[in-house]
Amino acid sequence: MGEAHWRELYREVVDTGLCTGCAACVMACPRDVLGYTDDYEPVQIGEGMDVDQCVIGDRGCDICTRACPRFRTWESELDQELFGRERERDEVYGIARSLLLTRTTDAGIAEVGQDGGLVSTLLIHGLEQDWIEGALTSKIVDDRGPFDAAPALVTDRAGVLATAGSRYTYAANPLAMSEAEEQGLKQLALVGMSCQASINGTLPARKVNKYNRKIALTIGLLCSKTFTYEGQQKVLADHGIAMEDVVKANIKGRFMVWTRDGGYHEIPLKELHPYTRPGCKLCPDFSAEHADISTGGIGAEDDWTLTIVRTERGEAWMRAVIDAGLIEARPAEDDPVAIKLLEKLSVTSRKRWPVDELDGAAARPGLLPIVP
Ligand SMILES: Cc1cc2nc3c(=O)[nH]c(=O)nc-3n(C[C@H](O)[C@H](O)[C@H](O)COP(=O)(O)OP(=O)(O)OC[C@H]3O[C@@H](n4cnc5c(N)ncnc54)[C@H](O)[C@@H]3O)c2cc1C
Repeated sequence: MGEAHWRELYREVVDTGLCTGCAACVMACPRDVLGYTDDYEPVQIGEGMDVDQCVIGDRGCDICTRACPRFRTWESELDQELFGRERERDEVYGIARSLLLTRTTDAGIAEVGQDGGLVSTLLIHGLEQDWIEGALTSKIVDDRGPFDAAPALVTDRAGVLATAGSRYTYAANPLAMSEAEEQGLKQLALVGMSCQASINGTLPARKVNKYNRKIALTIGLLCSKTFTYEGQQKVLADHGIAMEDVVKANIKGRFMVWTRDGGYHEIPLKELHPYTRPGCKLCPDFSAEHADISTGGIGAEDDWTLTIVRTERGEAWMRAVIDAGLIEARPAEDDPVAIKLLEKLSVTSRKRWPVDELDGAAARPGLLPIVP
């Protein structure tokens, strides 16, 4: 990274709108001089400093830039590190070892899992086998109001089940690392939106060793975008639904909402689009391309997780849950519509990367040209 530190990260990533709010920089900052705003942005918290000034950076600390999955030539660096090569143009959803449809065989997980419950099954198995001591996930909170999401550390089956399912506001799960550190946990799984899952590549590629050693598995969630809390609240209110009555939400071409009274509601997705969270607007990564295992809910059948196994360790974890009879798996080719949609949504997201509009040539090579 040379001379690059917080000032360059701020100017090239935060100030240009490329920052997704993944909080990798905040997690990795060794001097705790970066904070995180309610608008999901990293911020300098040192007294009397300008937004882009970091006295530690001026003295040569560049850890924030190294952790950031949007800084400079991020995509090729991460591909090389995780897969030993850059992606080919036609690998539109990233480099993969296998593409599966998976479903838990555990009725308790199936009950609360968003799709096939793969994510929760992997976490519970990892905890029970002592492969991990905890997982960085997201819990339901009422910080802005009911059914909001926030980072959470879970360490047992009950915790995993309590945090299963999807919320469509943003939670910067890497921030739960601070609680893991307080508890002295050394082996963790990171569950993260596609942007957060790229930390899986930045930490080893740029030698952020302290955290690289701690993350034993990264599970990515396929993601087109998240929405602001206020926007979701307004759209629901327009349909006569109060946020406090929501017990589950899903997005599959439409906003699907289940309410406390047993009701089920469908809302056209276009009503939510005006409330896209700003940090998602330039994000080019739909399919969590640098996770060990990426998971999504697109497909013909609702209770299966579309699963992209990407790395050797991802494959080892998948093999373990399948061999233990905890996960049922079949080839994704069984569902050609899901594969088509995966390709389409991946290409759509990649077109967001503002190659031509950005100031500063240094920020441009971030994404390899793959759109066919
Ligand atoms: C905001 C969002 C958008 C998504 N968009 C798509 C999409 O467009 N297409 C698609 O195919 N799939 C999408 N997904 C992924 C999908 O909803 C499921 O998470 C995925 O299929 C895994 O299902 P599962 O049953 O295996 O997971 P589960 O076993 O239910 O586990 C889900 C995990 O996700 C974590 N989580 C929930 N909400 C959040 C959040 N807001 N931020 C961070 N972590 C969270 C939970 O804590 C839990 O660990 C999205 C998920 C989220 C959270």
